[in-house]
Amino acid sequence: MPWLETKDPYKIWISEIILQQTRVAQGWSYYERFIERFPDITSLHKTQESEVLKYWEGLGYYSRARNIKKAADQIFTTYHGKFPDTYETLLSLPGIGPYTASAIAGFAYDLPYPVLDGNVARFLARFLAVESPPLEPSGKKIITDFLAPAIQETKPSAFNQAIMNFGALICKPAKPNCHECPFTSGCKAYQLRLTDQLPVTLPKKEKSNRYFHYFILYNPKTDSTVIQQRSGKDIWQHLYEFPLIENESEGPLPKQKSDVLLSVFDIDSDAEQPLLAIHKTQNLTHQKIHFNIQIFLWNGLIKDKTGLYQTVKVSNLSSFGFPVTLANMVTQLENMNGSTIKEKQQNDVM
Ligand code: SF4
Repeated sequence: MPWLETKDPYKIWISEIILQQTRVAQGWSYYERFIERFPDITSLHKTQESEVLKYWEGLGYYSRARNIKKAADQIFTTYHGKFPDTYETLLSLPGIGPYTASAIAGFAYDLPYPVLDGNVARFLARFLAVESPPLEPSGKKIITDFLAPAIQETKPSAFNQAIMNFGALICKPAKPNCHECPFTSGCKAYQLRLTDQLPVTLPKKEKSNRYFHYFILYNPKTDSTVIQQRSGKDIWQHLYEFPLIENESEGPLPKQKSDVLLSVFDIDSDAEQPLLAIHKTQNLTHQKIHFNIQIFLWNGLIKDKTGLYQTVKVSNLSSFGFPVTLANMVTQLENMNGSTIKEKQQNDVM
């Protein structure tokens, strides 16, 4: 893994942020693509946020991508483009919390800050028999108070890497390899036969359901469609999407609601039926999104004067960052030509 071979704080930062939200096997290709396009802090500073979001497409947690861009800009405005090299200054950057600051300080600069990732937390929660969730404040304090003096005695980057690997390979989530473990005599969980009960976890919160009705409007004459950029404090902030109505409940969207939206685009819903209706679901961390995506033929007219919507060529859609379900739709749209869309029957499911 490149981020284990490097002392470059920029690459360590990007890899840590990507790996906070995805497994190494999945995160690898995203990391490579990202670093190829933005090989250093200067390239990230010089680009637009929308391009960073495009490269983040599919990873989720888009606020992290926005914070990466904000932090890159701040490094230029405050530190003249030089990557900060102390824990405190790292911590002052947008999106960099104690975990990431410790990882950069430890791996790039060999400063003695313990990295508390999920693997370390699990291992130490068992070793110390921590009675609260190890990544919640009280559990975290017990573990960092234990690690802080220990890391002073060692080479910090090697120490951090070693306990992360130990947690990943030996003190594993489901069945820790206690028979291979050199710490059994000091491990409280092992001594108290609590290895299968630790670490303590918080009860899972039930996900809220949301019902998103998207309208893809296709103008065959100009091979164009309509998109808008998401705003407000909600999921997928600053990403793009097709015209949307969110409904409070499951089931078909009330006709009067869809009529209001379609009339903005000069579509008479009694005369024009959708060419396609596609149903998908996407699980986010705290929400389950139910998609109902309909494709309509459209004459290119927008009656709305708010400037909310922009018309784009279908062939240009992939240059915008979309939530992953819509990004998949974009790929399908690009692969279809106008006549294919017309041939599709109503309520055909892709
Ligand atoms: S003895 Fe088992 S539970 Fe304790 S640290 Fe070792 S592997 Fe983990």
